[in-house]
Amino acid sequence: MKKRLIPYVVIVAILAALFILVIRPAGDAKKVTRTEFLMDTIVESLIYTKDSKLGDEALTYAYREISRLEKFLDRHISGSDVTKINQAAGREQVLVSVDAMEVIIRSLEVGELSGGAFDITIAPLIKLWGFGTGDTQIPGEAELSEALDLVDYRQVQVDREAGTVFLQHAGVELDLGGIAKGFIIDKAVEVLRDKGITSAYFDAGGDIRVLGDKPDGTPWRIGIRHPRDRRDIAAIVEIRDSAIVTSGDYERYFQVNDERYHHIIDPQTGMPARGLISVTVVAADAFTADAYSTAVFVLGLEQGIALVESLPGVEAILITEDEQVHITSGLAIQITEDEQVHITAISKGW
Ligand code: ADP
Ligand code: MG
Repeated sequence: MKKRLIPYVVIVAILAALFILVIRPAGDAKKVTRTEFLMDTIVESLIYTKDSKLGDEALTYAYREISRLEKFLDRHISGSDVTKINQAAGREQVLVSVDAMEVIIRSLEVGELSGGAFDITIAPLIKLWGFGTGDTQIPGEAELSEALDLVDYRQVQVDREAGTVFLQHAGVELDLGGIAKGFIIDKAVEVLRDKGITSAYFDAGGDIRVLGDKPDGTPWRIGIRHPRDRRDIAAIVEIRDSAIVTSGDYERYFQVNDERYHHIIDPQTGMPARGLISVTVVAADAFTADAYSTAVFVLGLEQGIALVESLPGVEAILITEDEQVHITSGLAIQITEDEQVHITAISKGW
């Protein structure tokens, strides 16, 4: 009897040692969180670090980066690069910050790849509908067609060498609302990484970027809001070291006679895009996820899926008006016993 006990004791000791070795580092990590209202939304962040003082400092720098960039990119802020570009439309080139230059060049690429579904010269239409002003309205046909004439991303002339941007006609206006948050949280997460942070979560009103894994080595689990029930979750997606961004028709909208008019506008018609009610894009960075969530929303189910399938490292979860969930080929769906929809990556280690 006694003899047989020894191996058990040894096994238990080895297991305990392994347990301590594997679990301890995670146990040491402290959670540091912060919430601030920036970019017209709630920006929440969470990092795991052994040194909470360093974590706190890293977050201070990250949030400082957000407010620095917001001042360049917001068309509502006087003196921002975007405001200067818009004011000089049809007149002169404007010298801009390297950050504004980067966003504009990358946005024009998405404009090209999406066949114009994503268009950063959407401002005349957004203004006409009144989104962002608190005074929304359905535009009349004449003014709609006037605004439509001004919306064309090919009107944006960029001189990379000189660092200037020029809008070729008076009245053309940039609106980076479909992309700024994604670009900015990427930059904020870069700041955290430069400060030595390896595990972090950043959420700017549904634009999410995570750094690394959670400290216990498991992926981050992100809930996609149900587009028709605020308290419910449509699906849970597991990601590591990447970004997930949702565009929906339920964030900014108004209703007239039961018809919903929301802020993602089809540049071809000038009307809110119809067919999809929620598009979530997963990609390596939040810029890509943010730009394509808006682009795919405009393109609709079939063309949207085709676009995403053509982009390596990009996947999407699309919800149609009849509340059906569709996914692209790099993702897998599992329905758990409690009827929760679980989405994971097949090929890549998100
Ligand atoms: P959210 O801002 O709710 O996260 P999006 O990323 O989809 O959602 O951005 C919507 C914003 O993008 C609009 O408020 C507007 O500023 C801008 N926008 C609307 N339609 C387009 C479009 N077709 N292309 C580019 N930007 C757009
Ligand atoms: Mg977007």
